[in-house]
Amino acid sequence: MKIKSSETYVAQGAAYCPVCGSDDLRAGDTEYPSTREIVQQITCGSCGSHWNELYKLHSYADLEVGDTGVFVGAVTRNLTEEEQKAFDSIFPERDDEG
Ligand SMILES: [Zn+2]
Repeated sequence: MKIKSSETYVAQGAAYCPVCGSDDLRAGDTEYPSTREIVQQITCGSCGSHWNELYKLHSYADLEVGDTGVFVGAVTRNLTEEEQKAFDSIFPERDDEG
């Protein structure tokens, strides 16, 4: 029995049991060890092996600003001072304490 490495498992799409190669996989409980990580328990229906798949947040996407209807997608770098000023002039910060 040749167990596939974690790297191979991920590279091959994580669709097969790393022990027996079966695609009869069942997703179990999900845990959230931090705001940037998800742990998904997987069980193989063929050989009974079970393991955790570890997910790490790597980005956000499809950002829409408040209730403005403005869709900006993903901001992949910090805005320059000029860009920030332009943004602030269009969308002034709300005074949430008032
Ligand atoms: Zn298996």
